[in-house]
Amino acid sequence: MFHRVLRCAVLIALLYGCTSSPVPAVLPSEEVLPPGSADMLPTPLPTIHLSVDLFPEVISGSDAADGAIPLLTPTPYPDSGGFSIGQSHEGRDIQVLQFGSGEHILVLVGAIHGGYETNTAVLAEQLVQHFSQAPDDILPDVRLMIIPVANPDGLARGSGLEARFNARGVDLNRNWGCEWSETAYLRERDVDPGPRPFSEPETRALRTFFLATEPDAVIFYHSKANGVFPGACGDLEPSGWLGDLLEEATGYPHGVFSHYTVTGDATNWLAERGIPAVVVELTTSNDPEFTRNLAGVMALQCYFARQDLAAGASVPGLPQAVRRLCP
Ligand SMILES: [Zn+2]
Repeated sequence: MFHRVLRCAVLIALLYGCTSSPVPAVLPSEEVLPPGSADMLPTPLPTIHLSVDLFPEVISGSDAADGAIPLLTPTPYPDSGGFSIGQSHEGRDIQVLQFGSGEHILVLVGAIHGGYETNTAVLAEQLVQHFSQAPDDILPDVRLMIIPVANPDGLARGSGLEARFNARGVDLNRNWGCEWSETAYLRERDVDPGPRPFSEPETRALRTFFLATEPDAVIFYHSKANGVFPGACGDLEPSGWLGDLLEEATGYPHGVFSHYTVTGDATNWLAERGIPAVVVELTTSNDPEFTRNLAGVMALQCYFARQDLAAGASVPGLPQAVRRLCP
């Protein structure tokens, strides 16, 4: 209960209070589907109206077998307004909230570094709140999926350095499969990348989610290096356009992260899979920098909408929505 109250105090109370207004939400199919199947996103999805509680009580401590890619088993939580893609080491749910039902899937991820970067969870929560209250800000050809807290165990540990890691002390953004190394760093400090790639339940849950949804673009929010850093793995560099687009829309400088060597990064693994992905580093550790990041999400939606219009796609309401939302 303490953790629940703490999280609520830190995040939800800051934004819209612990007793909040209903928001529209959609639930996925309960069917068990293999990775790579687009069928996990049935259209149309049922719409339900629920109170906001992104952090339900711990459900279980399940932890899939190391090394295995478990099937995606979305678990709807009627009290959460979203669904869970899996559990952390301590059994906290990793929640997804989704808006819209278009074919372009955009994924936003906050707090893979837990409470050490709390403002990224606050930003993701504010985006959830915005699109809950303004569903017309979703372009008709977009499905926006927001994971406010990728590392809920870290978020439950306050805001110090130890809150960056998961409950086993692993840095979840050193635990992915592109250029994973058993020695990993945060600036000059050693951090634990886990005993092997995807050793942690949180990274396995996210991997399974990405393989199942095959997003068109992914943004991981971090703080506080002030920049947009495209994912790349070896010669695979599918993310440069996304860096350019977000630099223009948000004002964060687009560059290559060269402060120190980063191994096992999530966006680099996504790049290896051909999925455009970037790290957006906020400029401070306390400001969610909502307005400029909302501008980034809108610019990304408009990018796909304009592509569809140029290709002659027939999506009901799309031309009108582009005129209204895409300056
Ligand atoms: Zn980070």
